[in-house]
Amino acid sequence: MKMAKKLLAACGVDAVLLGILICTALGGRESGKDREADIGGDAVRGESEEKTVALTFDDGPHPVYTKELLEGLRKRGVKVTFFLMGANAQENQELVQEMADDGHLIGNHGYRHEDMTKNQLESMCESIEKTSRLIQEITGNEPEYVRPPYGSWNEDLEEAIDLTPVFWSVDSLDWKYEDTDQIKRRVLEKVKNGDIILMHDIFSTSVDAALEIVDTLLDRGYTFVTADELIVD
Ligand SMILES: [Zn+2]
Repeated sequence: MKMAKKLLAACGVDAVLLGILICTALGGRESGKDREADIGGDAVRGESEEKTVALTFDDGPHPVYTKELLEGLRKRGVKVTFFLMGANAQENQELVQEMADDGHLIGNHGYRHEDMTKNQLESMCESIEKTSRLIQEITGNEPEYVRPPYGSWNEDLEEAIDLTPVFWSVDSLDWKYEDTDQIKRRVLEKVKNGDIILMHDIFSTSVDAALEIVDTLLDRGYTFVTADELIVD
């Protein structure tokens, strides 16, 4: 199941075509057309395919903006992924607990936002471990995923750090724009099924844009999932 999701996320239409080809070879019993007929024809063709997307937020928690974001997400029943900076998690432990209580996925973003490829491997391992330990102390769960700051990652880190790196497919450039409409427009123009969107919950414009993006994508029929459901190893 996970593999199928990954394939779908990676290959989009190709995976669907492959599925149709396989099903046709098996006698067509599972083709989309027959399935629609089986459930009474209620499904509208073209809208029956599930579209999923993951919002990810780096660098927090921020005492004001992350709190606003959590409230907005709770109202909408949407789950996202947070990659926490250890130093900020230390200062805002109740928000980390809230994230966990609300069912968001929590990952590691290093203790002080170090570029992991430009520092000693040993000290980067310490930074990751310190952050993971802190998150575990607060939530009871050890993170399984890391978002390397700047996306900087290499084979040495891959071998030394026992966390799965999570990158992104849509960069909102929210830190650069700091403009709600511009962020929103950029993401909504680029987004497609299976995307992982990069944002930062340390700007008020990012939080406002994120909640508007959520509303628009819900209207467009998207389902929000946590990043672990969309990553391709
Ligand atoms: Zn960052």
